Amino acid sequence: MKTETNTPYSGGKVYLVGAGPGDPGLITLRGKYLLERAEVVVYDYLANKKLLNYVPETAEFIYAGKKGGGLHAFTQEGINQLLVEHASAGKRVVRLKGGDPFIFGRGAEEIEKLVQAGIDFEVVPGVTSATAAATYAGIPITHREYTASVAFVTGHEAPGKKESNIAWDKLATGAGTIVIYMGIKNLPVITRKLIDNGRASDTPVAVVRWASTPIQHSVVGTLETITDVVKEAGIKPPALVIVGEVVKLRKTIDWFETRPLFGKRIVVTRTRDQASELVAKLEEHGAECLEYSTIHIEAVDDYQLLDQALQQINTYDWILFTSLNAITYFFKRLYDKGMDSRALASCRIGAVGRATAEALRQYGICADMVPDKFTGEGLAESLIAGGVAQSRIVLPRALKAMETLPEMLADAGAKVTVAPVYQNIPPKGRKAELREQLQQGDIDLLTFTSSSTVTNFLAMVDPADEQEQQQLLGNVQIAAIGPITAETVRKSGLSVDIQPDKYTIADMVTAIVSHYRANTK
Ligand code: SAH
Repeated sequence: MKTETNTPYSGGKVYLVGAGPGDPGLITLRGKYLLERAEVVVYDYLANKKLLNYVPETAEFIYAGKKGGGLHAFTQEGINQLLVEHASAGKRVVRLKGGDPFIFGRGAEEIEKLVQAGIDFEVVPGVTSATAAATYAGIPITHREYTASVAFVTGHEAPGKKESNIAWDKLATGAGTIVIYMGIKNLPVITRKLIDNGRASDTPVAVVRWASTPIQHSVVGTLETITDVVKEAGIKPPALVIVGEVVKLRKTIDWFETRPLFGKRIVVTRTRDQASELVAKLEEHGAECLEYSTIHIEAVDDYQLLDQALQQINTYDWILFTSLNAITYFFKRLYDKGMDSRALASCRIGAVGRATAEALRQYGICADMVPDKFTGEGLAESLIAGGVAQSRIVLPRALKAMETLPEMLADAGAKVTVAPVYQNIPPKGRKAELREQLQQGDIDLLTFTSSSTVTNFLAMVDPADEQEQQQLLGNVQIAAIGPITAETVRKSGLSVDIQPDKYTIADMVTAIVSHYRANTK
């Protein structure tokens, strides 16, 4: 198509990107790449807001609204205008739309406007909600034995209306599987139309709301019954209707909503940069994670003790690492001093557990000792068993930490230098939100991965007295990573429901999963 204006070339461009159905993991690599480089992003109600985390903070974020039946933040004309304006100003504009932009998304209308204005564009397809809803409800939309054809239909226009674009008479028996977008409001008319046009009234039907998200909700019925089923279950848009024999396969294939932690809301209390492993593992089992970072990690104000140790580092026998943060801040200081791992060549290095040992490898160091028991105490016992009398040991760690390890080593005759390299600062904010979720009983489980996550979490909840603490937290389950964390939970007047045998994130997640499996059987 030829452009109709002679606007000078601005270098701006609009990328119409499919955000996928809901799970932010279902965006394409191309879509993510473009979000990471966007200067303006215009996003819809159905596009998962988590995807906006990929966009540089310096970008302009514009919510275009569009909630079915609700208030539109912009009219379609307004959105078109917005895209043209920003691209004409030379900006890289990402227009982020739910599912696939060209499937019932009015993407083409936006593109037509850009073409008229002579603006460059690109379209990135997305996983459309129809295939996602079917897949995540355990329904293959085609199957050799059941159907060889699928139709995607909008249920937005009432089938009764004269100028309908949909040939319901042909569709009813013409397509094996029929997937209806925006069909909840008109469901009674749609199902009646299909039956009246020859589709068997006992044809299975599934309705899937918020597909591929932690709040996905599916129900199954037949053309005859589904309207009542949906009403009874209180299913509202956004939802898809899937009609056809393939729906029967859900009985066998249903996998998403049957995961052990599906429907569970779990608070993750690690520091933000360390939360990802725990969150990813819990989400894989179906949980919805609420991230409350209870700790903010900062460098210490004074590195004097570490600096002194580093100056004479080859007089030390051991360097011990008891946390990932200790490793990060130790090496940061080492590099700042113009040194690197080679300076540590004459020392032996101990790590408290598997994760710390793994982190040390990133710095080119294989730990000389990792105890069987992943605690400070375990590390002390292993070292003492090998003999530490007169050994010079440096322990880079948090400003405030348990004294067990240095005390045990000193008692065994070692000369221990405790060198603080980082500090935990309880963050402010989000208290009201957290308290409200607790009050409403929206939270199933709290996860604690260290004693300070417990104390800082309680400081954030800030109950007025024991009675209020009981009222807010009494019905919430608690998982603690190890015995010390569990002890802190108990000392705070709460009880521990889940505790793994080994003190790792992976083992904690396994313990959580088996807890819920046992309790749902
Ligand atoms: N372009 C989108 C569709 C937009 S029309 C796509 O390709 O998916 C909006 C309709 O899509 C909603 O009314 C609903 O029927 C469906 N929809 C979108 N996301 C959905 C989801 N996560 N779960 C169920 N239905 C969804």
